[in-house]
Amino acid sequence: MRQRKPLVVANWKMNGNSELVQQMSEALSVLKQPLPDILICPPVIFLADFPKHPNYKLGAQNLSEQLVGAFTGEISADMLCASGASSVIVGHSERRALYGEQDSVISQKVKVAIEAGLTPILCVGETLAQREEEKTLQVLARQLDAVYAAQPHLLAHSVVSYEPVWAIGTGRTATPEQAQQVHQFMRQHLAQYDAEAANELRIIYGGSVTAANCEALFAEADIDGALIGGASLKVADFSAICTMA
Ligand code: PEP
Repeated sequence: MRQRKPLVVANWKMNGNSELVQQMSEALSVLKQPLPDILICPPVIFLADFPKHPNYKLGAQNLSEQLVGAFTGEISADMLCASGASSVIVGHSERRALYGEQDSVISQKVKVAIEAGLTPILCVGETLAQREEEKTLQVLARQLDAVYAAQPHLLAHSVVSYEPVWAIGTGRTATPEQAQQVHQFMRQHLAQYDAEAANELRIIYGGSVTAANCEALFAEADIDGALIGGASLKVADFSAICTMA
């Protein structure tokens, strides 16, 4: 029996509108239990439009590493909490690649999120070049260590999402075996910091997950759910993935 409750996260990125909020919330509200934990991360402007419902929670896609002050365009952890978010995606590969987020900033964001009462969903993953150079595990260890080596107490409050950069939005999913191998490595690696927390940690997979390929991924022992980009914008597909988790 699975010891960790599955988690399915929708990352809408800079997509969606009020109609999608309405359609998605209606569809998720009628899903029958048992369900995984379902987290919708729309653009923050839509958080307040989601009706409250026990079938899902809300999250954000990013936060400031600062608490308050003159940081034009930024949104703080406290503001996200006040807007109804319970979680926040941190260190998505698009933030790392397009906005230059370094491990040190990502580490600070995880800390700030947890201290405000948000669950961070820490995204880690290798590029295609790194995989081809057989540096995948080394890269993942570096990304994880940047957050947890100096702050091991944060592990018990986190979710980790393995997102191979080459699989995001490409239609090229990691095979269940590839993903399982990495998830197992990460869990073992994190056990050096807190064995109990590593065992209980939810490690989800992201990268071109669809209703057609999710079941095989969810069947793996260390894959505790998924972070979904493109398919989270399609109401029927996302609902189907949730019922299969
Ligand atoms: C993502 O946004 O992190 C993601 C995994 O996207 P997609 O499902 O479209 O690959």
